Amino acid sequence: MIFRCDPHLHSGPCPWSNEWHGGSPESMAEGIVRAGVDAYAVTNHQGFYPEAAACVEEEVARLLDGTGKKILMITGTELSFDFDGRRFHANHLCKDRFPTGSAPEISKLPCSFADIAQIRKDYPGVTILNHPVRRAGDAKRLDRMSGFVRDSGLFEGLEVANGAILQNVARHRNPRPVLSSAPIQLFQQLRGRDLNIAAIGSSDAHRGFNKIPLADDGAEDLQGLNLYDPDNQVGSAVTEYCAETPEGIFEEIRGGRTCAVAIHQEIRSLVRVAINGLSLNGLHRYVRVQEG
Ligand SMILES: [Zn+2]
Ligand SMILES: [Zn+2]
Repeated sequence: MIFRCDPHLHSGPCPWSNEWHGGSPESMAEGIVRAGVDAYAVTNHQGFYPEAAACVEEEVARLLDGTGKKILMITGTELSFDFDGRRFHANHLCKDRFPTGSAPEISKLPCSFADIAQIRKDYPGVTILNHPVRRAGDAKRLDRMSGFVRDSGLFEGLEVANGAILQNVARHRNPRPVLSSAPIQLFQQLRGRDLNIAAIGSSDAHRGFNKIPLADDGAEDLQGLNLYDPDNQVGSAVTEYCAETPEGIFEEIRGGRTCAVAIHQEIRSLVRVAINGLSLNGLHRYVRVQEG
């Protein structure tokens, strides 16, 4: 069977702002159910926050009550780390379920590579390099980035379609196509270097106050502009995989067999242009645009 997962959602406390970072559990659950995904992960920053994830899960269960449907929640967190003078994010997804009040502390900001390696060891699962190109200038660093991803051995997946960033780019007057093509280009480089990394699509659904600066010079910085509709954003891009059950996502990511699919109307043309512009040589099955 083919399943769809949105492995990157925010609804929880944020360790560095004391604010709730992301949509309310009610709005996220509504988005999850409406998006029709089979699985999702609530990946708040620097911690597993089982309480916040449970609120979303309960709300999803409430909405599905009586329908006979089930949507799998996957445990996850979004970790920050520094490389090449920049801050990067990685999602770690694991099979563990942490009961309320017993999640491990991940307070260090940023994580060192050793911290990430330890988290991977303690809570086996998969680690995904998120939005590797957030600013136009990052595209110049793709070679260093691909060397790092290959040599570090820390990642099973690469987020080639990030719905939040692509929606921002699509709504901007002067879109920077590099932000949609560079992550796919990085994926292409890695696969070309015999790294069987998985293509990941996710919405990274947040509330509008989350800041995603797009340019080095700040001139086109979108911060402060509320460009999101958090209710619509869940499922804007997803990870598609073929397995017996939704839980099979871990094996599919490890095997590099997933496909990043751009779903949301606003981002489809950007991803389509990126795919066509890169002449993917057989990699089309890993990055796709939902037709219709
Ligand atoms: Zn992030
Ligand atoms: Zn995020």
